[in-house]
Order: sequence, then structure tokens, then C-alpha cells
Amino acid sequence: MKRMRRTKIVATLGPASDTPEMVRRLHEAGADTFRINMSHLPREGLRDKVAMLRAVEDQVRRPIPILVDLQGPKLRVGAFQDGGAMLANGDAFTLDSSDLPGDGARVQMPHPEILAALEPGHTLLIDDGKMRLRVKDVSRGKALTEVEVGGRISNRKGVSLPDTLLPITAMTEKDRSDLEAALDVGVEWIALSFVQRADDLADVRKVARGRALVLAKIEKPQAIVHIDDIMEASDAIMVARGDLGVEMPLEQVPGLQKRLTRLARRQGKPVIVATQMLESMITSPVPTRAEVSDVATAVFEGADAVMLSAESASGQFPVESVATMSRIAEEVERDALYRTILTAQRNEPEATGSDAIAAGAHQIADTLGLKAIAAWTFSGSTAMRLARERPNATVLALTPNRETARRLGLVWGVHPIATRDAFDIDDMSARAAKFAIREGLAKVHDRIIVVAGMPFGTPGATNLVRIAFVTQEHAAMA
Ligand code: PGA
Ligand code: MN
Repeated sequence: MKRMRRTKIVATLGPASDTPEMVRRLHEAGADTFRINMSHLPREGLRDKVAMLRAVEDQVRRPIPILVDLQGPKLRVGAFQDGGAMLANGDAFTLDSSDLPGDGARVQMPHPEILAALEPGHTLLIDDGKMRLRVKDVSRGKALTEVEVGGRISNRKGVSLPDTLLPITAMTEKDRSDLEAALDVGVEWIALSFVQRADDLADVRKVARGRALVLAKIEKPQAIVHIDDIMEASDAIMVARGDLGVEMPLEQVPGLQKRLTRLARRQGKPVIVATQMLESMITSPVPTRAEVSDVATAVFEGADAVMLSAESASGQFPVESVATMSRIAEEVERDALYRTILTAQRNEPEATGSDAIAAGAHQIADTLGLKAIAAWTFSGSTAMRLARERPNATVLALTPNRETARRLGLVWGVHPIATRDAFDIDDMSARAAKFAIREGLAKVHDRIIVVAGMPFGTPGATNLVRIAFVTQEHAAMA
């Protein structure tokens, strides 16, 4: 399959997309990465899901990255006597630690450490921000609040605390077991929800020990405060606009999206823009104009990936959603302004050999109008630094490491291919040329660029850039 769209598409799996046939159709329609959301999947189901995705990967013969999304500390109130209660503006309402069923005056907050962290003036948002309570007074194990925006509160509704730095790590016991299960079956990316500080990621990394890359979901104001440290500690980020838009004023989300996208791009780490991108397609075969514009904005910003949640997981039009997203991205990438914007936002190389090589390769490709930069890479880092350049040419990542090929499937402009390692410079060029022809990026008498590190297999030793001629022999190999 010749898919040369630069922006990648992440599709969330769910009841609407749970069969090998559907996964295959979604992949054909343009889904590059599949996301498994542990908020909705019992741990025991993970092995089968991953096996299903790997089977499809074998059929389509393209590396398919799997992203497992850990639920994180989603806080919830306890249960009510009558299933719920109406709260009117101005009412007093208490959260306490008693497990007695709640009523119109109080309910349990089954997280003592949260009750202890609340301070007068803090906001509590209930049920994705539909209701708002303001803390008036705190005493041992109790928070007295005033209802600022009322409504019906009911059993186990979610609670967001935008003002409170939670004295808990982003990894709950459930997350810990889910993480072990994900590492056991082997997945490429682990996403951590409700990250507040860099230490949250260190916890995951300690368990993962390099077996998976770690992605921080940015969905709390505390994460924005600590964003530099969090970026440093993660391999990628997600602009998780769903919860971010609950915990922060909605109108701040677009600016934050731009800021986070630029920050990630500057570091050369993948950034996914997520949530409600084609929300109306959950029930409609066509998106709204505003949604098309939203997807286009993320693509114009040079995000590595755009994501579908309920649209592909539980909506009525999963395939159409992916196909629509793909068409929008392709169209934006053809727009002359797209190039102009990416060029204007290009990040200067850092003072390392691999960045110097990446910048050089980018420049050579532009000067000669070449379509492929083939990068021999073991860890994937050479390909990622090339992608950071956002070059016009496709980054053909050639790697003997299947895991690396999969991981790179999330990265902007990278077309990963798992293949046995090259044994010398000629083999390296010949096989790069062969793959470039096969992928439609070059023909006989064209040139391609080859980037590598010598000696082979030394991570971080990118030190070679070569202009290789594509010959009849290469065409015969392809
Ligand atoms: P979720 O994360 O779908 O797991 O909530 C994404 C978001 O909050 O936007
Ligand atoms: Mn979220």
C-alpha cells in the first residue's frame, strides 16, 4: 500500500471496530495507529485485542503501532440513596469520607487524600464540568461546598479538581496491573492519563524498562504548569482536549493546543491532537464544517497525529470517520500554504551530529528536489530527528528492529520498513533505492538520500549522508 500522507491517524478501538475485518477496513481507510482504551476494556481482553491487531498487521504487511491508554486517577463521588440528587444554585453540599449513601446534602468522596488536599476557594467540577461546586470550608475529612452551577448529581459521577495539586500519582493500582498486562503482551506506546508532574512518568518508565515508549496525556492545568519537565520525561504527548477542556476554560484550549504542538515539535517528540475532532460523525456520515476546519488546523500546525475516539470506537460511521480524516489531512498537505507554514516554523538543529546530518539531508533533498530520505536506524532516533525537520521528502526509516518500525508508525512523515540490517555502504544504498522504488518515491536515474551511522548498530552515531543514484539494477530488485 502506498500511503504517503505525512500526518498520522490514530483510531480508538471499541465495540464499533472490534473485529479483524473492521480493523482492516479502518487501516485501509487510513488508520495508522490503533488505541486501546483501558477505561473500557477488562485487562483479560487485552491479549486478544493485541493478537487481532498483529494478525491484521501480518495481512497488510505494514507495521501497526499499538497505543495502550491507561485510565489514570479518574476521581468519582460515591453512591446515592436514590441514585442521585438535584442540587440547586446556592445550596450547601458536603463531601465526606462516610460510605453511607448520599442525599441532597452530602455524598462520599471515597479518596481521603483528596479531601485532605482541598482548600477553601477550590473548584470541584462534577460530571465533565456540568456542575460546579466551590469549597467554603474544610475540616477533618469533610469539605463544605456551595453549589455554583447546579444540576443532577448521581452515582459515581466523575470529579475534576482544576485548582488542586493532587497528592497522588497518575498511576493507580488498576493502571499498574493494566501496564503490566500491556508490557506482557508487548505494545509500542503507553499513554498515561491525568499526568501532573514529571515523576508520574518516571513511575511508568521504571516499570516499562524500555519495553514501550511513554506518552503523557496533557489534560490538567498542573501539567501545563510543569510542561517543560513533563516534555523532558516523556517520549510523546497528547493534547487531550476532552478533559483539558473540563479542567481549564474551553477558550484556552486552542491556544494551548498550538503551544503544546510547537513545544513537542521543538523537542522532536511526537504530538497527537485528540478528542471531538469529528464528533458529529458518531451519528452522522458527514462532519460539520467546523470539525473539518479543526482537523485541518491540527494538520497545518504540523502535529504528528490526529486522533479519533468514539467516532471509531462506538460510533455508527467508523470507516467514514477515518476516511474523512485522511482526506482532510491529504488536502491540507497539498495546500501550498502548508509548506510555507512548516518552513516558517522549522526548528533549528541542536548541536549534535545527528541533527546536523538531519538538517543537511533536508537541505540536500530540497535543493535537488528529491522525494526520499532513507534512514538506516536501530533505535528510530535518526528518523525522528529527520522528522523534526518536517522535510518535504518522505523519511523512509529502514530498521532491522521490528519494534522500532512499529514505534515510528506514529511519527510525522516517517514511512517505516522492517528489513534485515545492511552490511556495508553499497548494500545500504542499494536496498534504500530498492525500497524507494517500491514505495513510489523514486524511479531509475533519480537520486535519493541515504542517512546512516557507521559502524552499524551503534545507537546515536548518525554520521553519514550520501546521495545515491537509482539504477536499473535497483529497479530489478524492487
Ligand atoms: P480520554 O482522553 O479519551 O481517555 O478521556 C482524551 C481526552 O481527555 O481528551
Ligand atoms: Mn482524558
